[in-house]
Amino acid sequence: MHTLESLVLGKSIRGSDAPVLLLNPTTEEPLAEVRSGGFDPKAVIEYARAKGGPALRQMNFAQRGAILKALSTAIHREREALIEVSIQNAGTPRGDAKFDIDGATGTLAYYAALGESLGERRILADGEGVQLGRTARFWGQHVLVPRLGAAVHINAFNFPAWNMMEKAACALLAGAPVIEKPGTATALLAERIARIVIESGALPEGAWQFIAGSLGNLVEHLDAQDSIAFTGSSRTAAILRGHPNVVRSNVRINLEADSLNAAILAPDVETSSETYALFIANVALDMTQKSGQKCTAVRRVLVPKDRAAEVRADLISALGKVKLGDPTIAENRMGPLASKSQFDEVRNGIKKLAAAAQVACGGPERVGERGYFVAPTLLEARDSNADLFHADEVFGPAATLLPYGGTAAEASALVARGGGGLIASAYSNDGPWVEEIVMGLAPWHGRLWLASDRMAEQSLPPGMVLPASIHGGPGRAGGGEELGGLRGLAFYQQRTALQGFKTPLAAYAAPGTGAAS
Ligand code: NAP
Repeated sequence: MHTLESLVLGKSIRGSDAPVLLLNPTTEEPLAEVRSGGFDPKAVIEYARAKGGPALRQMNFAQRGAILKALSTAIHREREALIEVSIQNAGTPRGDAKFDIDGATGTLAYYAALGESLGERRILADGEGVQLGRTARFWGQHVLVPRLGAAVHINAFNFPAWNMMEKAACALLAGAPVIEKPGTATALLAERIARIVIESGALPEGAWQFIAGSLGNLVEHLDAQDSIAFTGSSRTAAILRGHPNVVRSNVRINLEADSLNAAILAPDVETSSETYALFIANVALDMTQKSGQKCTAVRRVLVPKDRAAEVRADLISALGKVKLGDPTIAENRMGPLASKSQFDEVRNGIKKLAAAAQVACGGPERVGERGYFVAPTLLEARDSNADLFHADEVFGPAATLLPYGGTAAEASALVARGGGGLIASAYSNDGPWVEEIVMGLAPWHGRLWLASDRMAEQSLPPGMVLPASIHGGPGRAGGGEELGGLRGLAFYQQRTALQGFKTPLAAYAAPGTGAAS
């Protein structure tokens, strides 16, 4: 059986700890094993700091952008083989596998183009310069320079390709060497991509390392120039945020955690409108794409009380069209959950919600004889105010209808009960209602997706993370921020105010030099 290896210190290292078995979630047959350990975590950090970091910082943005382009091309070249691994390892139907892998290569390509546009600079201006002295000879200019440490990336199991490469694109373009630790359940796909990255020869020595299994005591050895970018549950996020060395050494940390994303239908939306059709299609897509294992998937669906029956019927009909089953069969559009622990957690979560709701379709039962299949499950709250619906994320194909009175203020108050989210989508053609919902929801979210008849035809779904817009959110969602064009680089850079003679300082902000503002 294949044993995953860590690609660290310029070598491929087989772990020494007891094996963790990876099962195909469709057949429950063993696929591979993961063994942690086998290397000194401190040496891995020092290797990144001593080799990868200096080499990347010698390069300008255009050169680092060219690396990202080469990585995008190398991964895309293996697309068909990677789709196969994704189907086996994560139980994703072909469409979902492509979503993950093309998300990875697309994000790399986006940042490659950004690097090219920044050109031969190594220092970025941040905003306009300002006169500080009696005359313009004494000048101030904020700049962004690469920090000197390693970028430790800890990722969730659900997007092994995209999650890994969206973080890598920002770090590498900023000049930071990466130590990647993927979610173990889908690490077979992550390892395959990590090998492509290394074998591409595009990166300097030490700029990319990959750890299969646990990090060991790596976090212990990080210092104030290093960083951790984490994606996963708020439970693990809290452990990392409170890690004694993270607190003691002020290790920079970005947390992308869970989120009870909401979709809100406004009372003005006519059943015959494009906005209503989009609402039904997007909720059904979010519940079934990646079997609902998407951090941006909708969990709470707010509908005006007098529309609840209509929405329930339309969603049941839309969900009924999504074929659930073996993802190797082309007609099946939804596969199993990615692992046994996911299967158990999702079923328990649905059972808990069902105690306070009507099950409109689906339910916690296993579907089929083997494999981790759960049907798309729509619930309808008996009391939309019950804590349960605003506290527990069921990370699977489940969402709850929450009937509300119809005002933007009431919708905002209900959504805010989730304690901070990645994304909320609101469906309305009523300008004042939309402005109220923006005022109510924006402080609680990293992204708002505003549907109307005017954009319906051209929109990309709200669950899709785009590199040009930030991803992250306050509170429960972790308080972090990734992507958003150049904003995504800032985590790996130091902002410093330079004060001195104007001419050299103003040059950093000259047109075409990639001023960050
Ligand atoms: P998880 O259990 O928190 O694990 C996330 C990552 O942390 C994995 O690589 C895991 O490794 C690692 N990890 C676990 N304990 C650790 C520790 N003590 N120290 C260092 N690393 C540790 O989350 P998950 O089950 O993989 O992912 C599902 C969750 O992620 C959901 O709650 C979902 O909402 C959230 N998520 C959020 C986003 C976002 O962008 N905000 C995106 C995707 C998913 P092992 O796998 O080896 O345990």
